Amino acid sequence: MDEAAVIDAVPKQLLVGGSWADAHGAATFDVADPATGLVLCSVADAAPEDGMAALQAAARCQPAMAALTPRERSDILLKAFDLLHERIDDLALLMTLEMGKPLAEARGEITYAAEFFRHFAGEALRIDGGYRTAPAGGSRLLVTKQPVGPCILITPWNFPMAMGTRKLGPAIAAGCASVIKPAAQTPLSMLALVEILTEAGLPPGGVNVITCTDANAVMEPMIRSGLARKLSFTGSTRVGKLLLEQAADKVLRTSMELGGNAPFIVFDDADLDEAVAGLMVAKMRNMGEACTAANRIFVQESIMTAFSQRLADAMKALKLGRGTDEGVAVGPLIDQAAVDKVGRLVDDAVGRGAAVVTGGSAVHGDGYFFSPTVLTEVPHDADLNAEEIFGPVAPLTPFSDETEVVTRANATRYGLVGYVFTNDLRRAVRVAEALEFGMVGLNSGLVSNPYAPFGGVKESGLGREGGAVGIDEYLETKYIGIAV
Ligand code: NAP
Repeated sequence: MDEAAVIDAVPKQLLVGGSWADAHGAATFDVADPATGLVLCSVADAAPEDGMAALQAAARCQPAMAALTPRERSDILLKAFDLLHERIDDLALLMTLEMGKPLAEARGEITYAAEFFRHFAGEALRIDGGYRTAPAGGSRLLVTKQPVGPCILITPWNFPMAMGTRKLGPAIAAGCASVIKPAAQTPLSMLALVEILTEAGLPPGGVNVITCTDANAVMEPMIRSGLARKLSFTGSTRVGKLLLEQAADKVLRTSMELGGNAPFIVFDDADLDEAVAGLMVAKMRNMGEACTAANRIFVQESIMTAFSQRLADAMKALKLGRGTDEGVAVGPLIDQAAVDKVGRLVDDAVGRGAAVVTGGSAVHGDGYFFSPTVLTEVPHDADLNAEEIFGPVAPLTPFSDETEVVTRANATRYGLVGYVFTNDLRRAVRVAEALEFGMVGLNSGLVSNPYAPFGGVKESGLGREGGAVGIDEYLETKYIGIAV
């Protein structure tokens, strides 16, 4: 399909109890293309009563979801996996239009998103329990797992589909009904995704979708209502903390995938080409708009000049433009505020003494573009050492030894992911174990994998998504004591 047809084909209403419906008062809001600033279409703007109606629909459907057999839940996910692959061209175009990432990356995200469904289709069949004789005899200890209950799922704009399947996959596999709320800037991929789940045979109300512009007004009453038993959120640490307070009201199970401030450490014994290639992935995937993006790049003194030159050459070779255009590797940032923030962080670093090797400024014209940037001699007190840059800026800073760099890498309130490049096996293990992060990429710039547990420590979050443990976030453990 062409651009207009792809936009036209997406449902624009709320999905509540298996029916598409307008928001209260038929309110809508616009969705824009960040490469042009032009409006693509309008979607329903839910009011608080719409949110509650969606949650009530999920609660009504919960017994039906729990009653599906493991095989039925697994088959729904496998069918949705197939449909995502069948429609990958149209879905990728849709994602690029609303979010900006290059088409090849959008295709990559849909493949990654679909893989969560295939993975959790398997996990649905492997939910286990236990049966033991009590040590003193006289009774048996039966342990079983049950779905946690209705879930509220909230996702960000940077991975508009994968952040949804990473929650919906395990929720469905476990037998939980849910209400999902995508980010206001990128609702279209999620609307297309839930349409696919409906086609795949999910019972009406098994998944409900709310799109809205006043997230706080709509979500807070839902979270505090007591109708949901679980809240899973991916987004900023600031909002995550707010939601944890709200969830405390009814003691909801929570999963929090929050912000990051990833260190990327290159030792002088690393393969330089591999390290530069790894950094290009860790830094430039999604234009740097990823929680996993390399944010602080520590390079051992003796290789700094060679490393920064190779990195600058690789950055200069990237083509910037609308994600739909041939050969584009760097799309626009999500909005003007994002461009302004990245510009502020670069100006602050330069003001404190950093040197610009390439890039360094916004690109004027239509859309929200920032040129791929390499900074060297970035001082410790620069703001970008403490904040997520969320843009195509690589700040390099030298270090002299292992102990120093580990201390500096850990000096952050975040703890999502760290990257280490070295060819010394002992050092690799020492440093990977010493880093206070939930994930470590060892000679690799990419850790995201549906088959591995994704998540952070410290203020980067609570819980894990994906891997064998991902489904546990949606299950309660029940113990039944049996007298014999
Ligand atoms: P955000 O501002 O926290 O928003 C995330 C989601 O929360 C959006 O759907 C947003 O809706 C909603 N939201 C905002 N305020 C809310 C409130 N008061 N109550 C309920 N929902 C609310 O984050 P973002 O800017 O979209 O995403 C970027 C952040 O996500 C970064 O910090 C990034 O590191 C993090 N992230 C983390 C992971 C991970 O796995 N750890 C993955 C991806 C992204 P609106 O769109 O309507 O504001």
